[in-house]
Order: sequence, then C-alpha cells, then structure tokens
Amino acid sequence: MTLKDSLKELEIKEKINLKREVKKELTKIKKEKKYKCIICMEESDYYLKGTNDYYCKKCALEHFSNLGHLKKIRR
Ligand SMILES: [Zn+2]
Repeated sequence: MTLKDSLKELEIKEKINLKREVKKELTKIKKEKKYKCIICMEESDYYLKGTNDYYCKKCALEHFSNLGHLKKIRR
C-alpha cells in the first residue's frame, strides 16, 4: 500500500479531510509567527530596510529618533 492509499483510508475511516486539516494547521502557524522587536522582544511593527532587524515603534523611535529608515511590516 502506498502512502497515498494509507492517507485515503485514514480519511475514510476517520471521516476527516486531510487537505483541510493541513491547511488549517498551516494557517495557524502563519498567524502565530510574529516579528519580535530585537530590543524589547515585544511584537514589532517596523523593520530596518534590508535587514532582519525588527523594532516596535517605541524602540524604533528611541533608537533612530524617527521612523524614516524603517519599513512598516505588512501583515
Ligand atoms: Zn521594542
């Protein structure tokens, strides 16, 4: 029996839609992925252009004195 057959059997036996289950899990993971401020570890709204440095608004303002260098994270 191939993996595909096994999965099919599982779907029938357990009355679940595997594709839907997988999708659901992936959505959950995506939602949970948060960008954390590199200074205070709070959820961040901005990042430094061309880097993976994330900052919350408060730290960004403290660090750069303005938000001109920063890009807003698109969610
Ligand atoms: Zn911060």
